[in-house]
Amino acid sequence: MLTVKEYTERFTSGTVKALIYGLMPPGYTVVALFMMLGTRMGGNAGYPLGGAREVMRRMEDKYRSLGGTIRFHSKVDEIVVESGRVTGLRSKGDLYNCDAVIAACDMYDTLYRMLGGKYAHGQLDAMLRSSELFEPICAVSFGLKRRFGIPFSQTFECPEGVRTAPDIVVNRLSLQSFEFDPSAAPENKSSVMVLLASRLDYWQKLREENKAEYDALKRRLADEVADAVDRRIPGFKDAVEVTDVATPATYVRYANLYKGSWEGFAPTPAAIRANIRKTVDGVKGLYLAGQWTTPGGGICTAVKSGKDAVRAAMRG
Ligand SMILES: Cc1cc2nc3c(=O)[nH]c(=O)nc-3n(C[C@H](O)[C@H](O)[C@H](O)COP(=O)(O)OP(=O)(O)OC[C@H]3O[C@@H](n4cnc5c(N)ncnc54)[C@H](O)[C@@H]3O)c2cc1C
Repeated sequence: MLTVKEYTERFTSGTVKALIYGLMPPGYTVVALFMMLGTRMGGNAGYPLGGAREVMRRMEDKYRSLGGTIRFHSKVDEIVVESGRVTGLRSKGDLYNCDAVIAACDMYDTLYRMLGGKYAHGQLDAMLRSSELFEPICAVSFGLKRRFGIPFSQTFECPEGVRTAPDIVVNRLSLQSFEFDPSAAPENKSSVMVLLASRLDYWQKLREENKAEYDALKRRLADEVADAVDRRIPGFKDAVEVTDVATPATYVRYANLYKGSWEGFAPTPAAIRANIRKTVDGVKGLYLAGQWTTPGGGICTAVKSGKDAVRAAMRG
């Protein structure tokens, strides 16, 4: 299986190479690149109006309509296993008895904290140890008091660079604009998000040791990004009404993501061949789902794995 680099190096044009590398890192399998382009060009990929919130709301409504109950803000501390079978969950000191558990959250946390590292999963143990992961990112979002007609996705070369960690300067700015989604901003206003590669350890340490400095650097990052965009889209900075900066530490805090990897295992040729088992030896009634169960991660694979896990749990 070719990597993106092996495929791309056949082109002589530096521009074509840069465009391809802008779409996908060189170490990923070229199959992932073709799949991404294929689903887009075939009309099978899209953006759900209302974004992730609307997707979740519909799932929540369906689940509740079927009699399900949800307890938010209930971090699970332990998956209780007795005589080789799941019997419950422990969260904030409370025990919830159950016949089956679908672990749709971080896989490192599931195996090593909730199960206490007592049960082996050959593939996931090895992959969590040494597989390439999606690199941590900062997401800088702006609420703008006007519209600029920015297309959904636009990338600028940024030779002056934006520093996102002591050793990382980003020289390409990838903008995502949500002008097409009425729920993304009030009428006649708009919102734009810029994703930038960064480092987890840097932001996490800063947040733990000096929260005031962490907040100040988030503000500075937003300022630098706004300045850089303003040089390409005049008037941008003046139009900023709201700013939100998520660092890699934010992703760990809110989604408990192993190493801040926002899409799980990178789709390298080796990882993409792994057909990860969705159960754990010695723990009946436990089913694994979510981005960590399919290299390449993403929303579609996470949703599909959730459906598969429900079916497996129903079969018992
Ligand atoms: C900025 C950004 C852009 C992206 N763009 C795309 C895109 O265009 N297309 C795409 O397909 N994917 C995209 N992704 C990736 C995609 O969002 C993820 O792969 C997907 O959301 C993973 O779903 P999941 O259900 O496996 O995990 P998550 O969405 O991380 O959900 C896991 C949930 O489990 C909870 N949890 C964790 N630990 C515990 C615990 N101990 N107890 C209880 N709950 C716990 C977390 O709080 C979280 O709510 C993007 C991600 C980001 C950050």
